[in-house]
Amino acid sequence: MSKAIYPGSFDPITSGHINIIERCSRIFDELYIGIAVNMEKKSIFTPEERKAYIEDAISHLSNVKVVLYDSLTVRFCKENGIDVMIRGIRNSKDALYEMDLALNNKFLDKDIETFLIPAEQKYMLLSSSYIKQFAAFDVDIRGLVPECLREELIRRIKK
Ligand code: ADP
Repeated sequence: MSKAIYPGSFDPITSGHINIIERCSRIFDELYIGIAVNMEKKSIFTPEERKAYIEDAISHLSNVKVVLYDSLTVRFCKENGIDVMIRGIRNSKDALYEMDLALNNKFLDKDIETFLIPAEQKYMLLSSSYIKQFAAFDVDIRGLVPECLREELIRRIKK
């Protein structure tokens, strides 16, 4: 059975992330969405809140599961029989960063492969950080994030 993990901050999850999840859920038998709780940058939503929002947004995908873990992603993979890590690429800056990350993860565990998947054209400019700035300045973010978190995101940003 093929198992993969898509790790990230997802603060918040965007329609670009959901697109990657939907595409990968058709390729792998089981897909984990991973949120590392120990890597905490300053975040809008707690890891538990992000998990709950993602679960709501992907409830139509039966082979996708959201997990929180307090260790290196490669260690979580090893413990759970996952051998593929998925990351998304929107532009050349992402490509350089993701290549570096993939090589570091390969150094940590040579058995785990990183698959880099290009963003769909309509999501190429979409990022969690821009969404937060848009929300702060009353730009309409409908369609850019799952509807289940849109209003709460605006409320938190403006607090
Ligand atoms: P991290 O802080 O680990 O980079 P993010 O939540 O920002 O977490 O992103 C997780 C992954 O999703 C990264 O590989 C990132 O490049 C990718 N990603 C982010 N936004 C998009 C998008 N709009 N389309 C495709 N991939 C994306």
